[in-house]
Amino acid sequence: MKSVLVLVPPNIPSMDSCAGGRYQATYNAAGSKASHWIPLWICYAAGAVPTGRALDCNVEGLTREGFLRTVPQYDIFVFYGNQETVAYDQETALLLSEAQKNSLIIFAGPYATVVPEKVVSAPGIHAVIRGEVEEPLRELCRNRPLSEIKGLTWKDGKEIVANPDMPRLDDLDSLPWVSRIIRRDLPLLRYWIPYLNYPYISIFSGRGCPGRCTYCLWPQAFTGHRYRKRSIGDVGDEMIWIHENLPQINEIQIEDDTFTCDRERVLELCDALRGKGITWSCCSRHDLPGDVLAKMKEAGVRNLVVGFESGSNDILKRVRKGLNTRQAQEFMTECRRFGLRVHGCFVFGLPGETRETMSQTLEYALKLRPDTVQFAIAAAYEGTAFNSYLREHGYLKDDVGITSSGHLTARYDYPDLSGDEINVFAHKAWRSYYLRPSTILREIRAALTDLQDAKRFARGITYVGDYLFMNQPHQK
Ligand code: SF4
Repeated sequence: MKSVLVLVPPNIPSMDSCAGGRYQATYNAAGSKASHWIPLWICYAAGAVPTGRALDCNVEGLTREGFLRTVPQYDIFVFYGNQETVAYDQETALLLSEAQKNSLIIFAGPYATVVPEKVVSAPGIHAVIRGEVEEPLRELCRNRPLSEIKGLTWKDGKEIVANPDMPRLDDLDSLPWVSRIIRRDLPLLRYWIPYLNYPYISIFSGRGCPGRCTYCLWPQAFTGHRYRKRSIGDVGDEMIWIHENLPQINEIQIEDDTFTCDRERVLELCDALRGKGITWSCCSRHDLPGDVLAKMKEAGVRNLVVGFESGSNDILKRVRKGLNTRQAQEFMTECRRFGLRVHGCFVFGLPGETRETMSQTLEYALKLRPDTVQFAIAAAYEGTAFNSYLREHGYLKDDVGITSSGHLTARYDYPDLSGDEINVFAHKAWRSYYLRPSTILREIRAALTDLQDAKRFARGITYVGDYLFMNQPHQK
């Protein structure tokens, strides 16, 4: 069987490209060999074949030169990248193809799925796997000819050939537990997210999201709108295995796009985990009723990651969020009642954004008072309806949403609101939230009563402090 390396390729310095996470981020402690995001997708792919290995070059401290100098021979390399890093990754792939002439070099991930011809046309790259990697990779390892493998776009001499799609994998229980691959291949202690207990580990309990939010990359470009689920028996067993076999782990994050969209299933998992002493977190929409939240708390849920996005109901409607600000307020009241922490995600730059709506969103965040927050700049990923909207209206000004130093930036201008203003406002929002005495006091209080919170707080200070004081808004 062929040997396979699935990798997060070496990045532009200081860029945390987040090949397995939800969006890219700039890791502010550059050079620390650390990342927020456990690259789940590369681990699932590496686990799909017995000869697969995962490598996250960035947390290993591998620059492009270091990677090319030290990487052993593999039959197949799968580069898992994103839109913001693809040009750099293509150059790395070319250098690798010159060093390892007999290897097959393949690109995968949402961007490669959306524009496979564009990605594969670069020299040194042999094929793109469109969509999820596991099934096509299994067939490649069995030596099946490229022409017969569904889901591939590949080079046949000078011609680029697109094979039919590979159906999405439905039997997710057939995949090996990703936690075992993470333990085998990744330096687990180098990943940390300021709103999760450290160290954490993440898993998928399912793939895909029925939501239709126009800015959201993953369901539109990669995983689809059908929520495909593992059995709760399999998910619960994996979480219990983590608890028993990785005692250093202080939190398990269920990284599904929206784990809570099937409430019956959430309650089933709560039943399976109640009394087991496992601390876990998940992504949630802000529409869960109090009785479900109470059961989640009882079953060990500590934190919910919630996309509130905007304080403007008009914007929420335009982006098809399907929820409104009143529901968010009710949800936050219930979370507080049951002692669940909330990490609130807000975003600036969505269609309809004005100076007034940005201020409205900041005020909304201050009023909702999630325990931790992030203020993102809407990323116009290729393959999203948001990207099409910007293109159709002539607002998009650049293909890449990062500066040369790896910092996020709005790459669009609205007629009455420039991308630079959005960048500046996002920076202001971070300061307004985290420098508020009530936020600081609340975090200190939490840290004084819980050892895990104290550790999280200490790490969070370096991250937020660095963000607030060292980095300035990045303008092109
Ligand atoms: S509900 Fe969340 S994960 Fe689903 S499409 Fe909307 S933003 Fe994306």
